[in-house]
Amino acid sequence: MSPSAAGSSVRVPFADFGSAYAARRKEIDAAVARVIASGSFILGPEVEAFEGAFSRFLGVDHVIGCGNGTDAIALMLLAAGAGPDDEVVVPANACVPVAAGVRLSGARLRLADVDAGTLTLDPEAVDRAAGPRTRFVLAVHLYGGVADLDGLQAVAERRGLTLLEDCAQSHGAAWKGCRTGSFGAAAAFSFYPTKNLGAFGDGGAVATRDPEIARRLRSLRQYGWSRRDFAETEGRNSRLDELQAAILGAKLPALEEDNARRRAVAAFYDEALADLPLTLLSTRPGSVSAAHLYPVRSGRRDAVRETLEGAGVETGIHYPTPLHLQPAYAFLGHRRGDFPVSEQAAETVLSLPLHPRLTGPQVEAVVSGIRGFFGAA
Ligand SMILES: *Cc1c(COP(=O)(O)O)cnc(C)c1O
Repeated sequence: MSPSAAGSSVRVPFADFGSAYAARRKEIDAAVARVIASGSFILGPEVEAFEGAFSRFLGVDHVIGCGNGTDAIALMLLAAGAGPDDEVVVPANACVPVAAGVRLSGARLRLADVDAGTLTLDPEAVDRAAGPRTRFVLAVHLYGGVADLDGLQAVAERRGLTLLEDCAQSHGAAWKGCRTGSFGAAAAFSFYPTKNLGAFGDGGAVATRDPEIARRLRSLRQYGWSRRDFAETEGRNSRLDELQAAILGAKLPALEEDNARRRAVAAFYDEALADLPLTLLSTRPGSVSAAHLYPVRSGRRDAVRETLEGAGVETGIHYPTPLHLQPAYAFLGHRRGDFPVSEQAAETVLSLPLHPRLTGPQVEAVVSGIRGFFGAA
């Protein structure tokens, strides 16, 4: 069987919004109609209801909706007290919004490398990167996998740093029985449409146990108001709107089941690709992944990608350029070679299609496309 023949009859899109909508259509349509009929579009009952439902889902006391995940990172840092002299350690292997969110808060970036198994922050690298101005560590649960929370918490304690989480790719992931988003002093979420819990537009939130951080966030997201038309502090406008909140509330009950389907697809890939010359992502023992993305690593990444494309299988690259090699952050003064694990990841990662409504034939088309490439059909 040739690689193209293997998948030629089945198209495998990277994401599938149509079937995701179809699966919850009644609930979503009702939610949208309810908001339009209410005439209340900003910070009303839908946002409050979703904040409550999501906080119960996470097992934290407070969830504060905001405009998007990048703002969630910035607002979380500001509410946690980050100032312009404070450094925040983030992984070099991450998407641009991680760095953008930190910079939007006014704080300084400090990059550290990731571990080769999970491609999330390596606590030893954080320890080496931390200096006298470092005050925060941002654990990014990339690809849906849980970062080394025990290791990062230990470094944070030893060095007097505050641990924060970026859960934009880990809605529903868990570590030792608790959800990601409940470990740090606060956690940022994105509801960008492609995330495991996605809105039909932009959306974000911060989760926290700390009532003072929650209070500051509610003020910062709305002009710095402490009450209507009275600014206690300089704020901005970054609100989750009622339509998106209602849609998210309609989709939240399906998140666990969707994540379980994602994990089943990932487990199938794990087994079907185990004997190939590919590096698969490791899952931290004791963790439950949200299986947001399924990156494999290959020195022949671009050729694998082309072959899959020819077989009708869409893939992605998460992420092609590590943060220290992004022109926008050249001022940090890093060079190629500074974060070798992140650089190697950027050169070799390829994300296979992974979403809850992939069909059996689609998943098999992905596998046979790759096996065909390596002559292992
Ligand atoms: C998507 C994402 C963000 C940013 O979210 P937006 O809502 O697009 O601003 C931040 N961090 C990570 C890890 C993400 O995947």
